[in-house]
Amino acid sequence: MTCELISVGTELLLGNILNTNAQYISQKLADLGVNCYLQTTVGDNPDRLEEAVRRALARADVVILTGGLGPTCDDLTKETVSAALGKKLVLDEDSLAHIRRRFAKMGREMTPNNVKQAEFPEGCAILPNPHGTAPGCIIEQDGKAAILLPGPPNEMEPMFDASAMPYLEKRSGTKLYSRMVRIFGKGESSVEYELRDLMDGTNPTVAPYALLGEVKLRVTARCRSEREGEKLVAPVIAEIRRRLGAVVYSDEGRELHEVCAELLLGHKKTLAVAESCTGGMLASRLVSVPGSSRWFLEGCVTYANDAKARRLGVSTDTLASCGAVSGQTALEMARGIRRTSGADVGLAITGIAGPDGGTPEKPVGLVYIALASGEVEQVTELRFTGGRERIRNSACLNALDMLRRSF
Ligand code: AMP
Ligand code: MG
Repeated sequence: MTCELISVGTELLLGNILNTNAQYISQKLADLGVNCYLQTTVGDNPDRLEEAVRRALARADVVILTGGLGPTCDDLTKETVSAALGKKLVLDEDSLAHIRRRFAKMGREMTPNNVKQAEFPEGCAILPNPHGTAPGCIIEQDGKAAILLPGPPNEMEPMFDASAMPYLEKRSGTKLYSRMVRIFGKGESSVEYELRDLMDGTNPTVAPYALLGEVKLRVTARCRSEREGEKLVAPVIAEIRRRLGAVVYSDEGRELHEVCAELLLGHKKTLAVAESCTGGMLASRLVSVPGSSRWFLEGCVTYANDAKARRLGVSTDTLASCGAVSGQTALEMARGIRRTSGADVGLAITGIAGPDGGTPEKPVGLVYIALASGEVEQVTELRFTGGRERIRNSACLNALDMLRRSF
């Protein structure tokens, strides 16, 4: 099966925006093993677009177009593809109702030109757009197909995954099956070094993504069924786990705080947190997990020394002799929040997020994290680099990792 892409938009030809849609779709096609030999970028010009569509449909089995589905007069993709295929445009009442509801929800007036977004080439399959007003569609004719997708990447990408991908999988007889391995406590280069040979594999493929303080690995198999995909992916994930050990915290793409939630729930333990430099970030992450009220009791932001003493019972001696940013203070904060909340586990963070407030002995980025439970007490000293947000984020991730590893 062969596929061609047509990216529609004068802004692309002028270099005003980067053609990320082409990159996104090309990667997915390559993963799927669908050949894409040619890609075209064309401006909002009906004659040139029609010619590009005709040529692409003459060569390829499937032509994917992005852009030009909007309400304005320069959005011409549906009209032009219909003309090229000799089809009429007809109004779809369901799509019109969806567009009306979307405008009503946003409290904005729907101007008449928006009706155009509910018109489609006769006989096509309409692809819903939960993230915008312009639906997409798939038109089949003489064994060929044109897939029309919206231009904005935040609408195009989910529509591609939810609607175009299953269509392409069905048509090509291949599926993509993937699992996301998540790693904390090891850098991207070191992960790559240890998994180099696995990353050279072709089925499954192993692709790394670095994100703030973490590494993700997507393991993707080309297969005919989910079962076959899992059979291909499972041994590679087992090997990754064997080589990397405890730094792997999920092989199902879960976030660190979600893993912590599962562990707390599974062990029937409750948690309370005390935070200084992260100012509630840790608590916020934890309560982003649905159902967190079953295990999360409370979070306390104790910023001032006096608050640490008054709310958590950190001793004034400790604050005077060791300082607010110290291992002893972190430990007393963890003990304090555990005691005052009645939680099974207390977790605490204190540090210097910067950019000011550092000293030679206690530089910006110095963070202490402590955990207190009935069985264990532990404290760790960490030194981060980067700006304030990065330091606060790293502190949260490390606190969650300490919690995870305590089980
Ligand atoms: P349109 O559907 O043509 O009205 O496109 C609306 C917006 O989507 C454009 O202004 C761009 O910001 C974005 N867009 C369109 N095509 C692409 C593309 N190929 N890659 C990335 N962004 C795009
Ligand atoms: Mg456009």
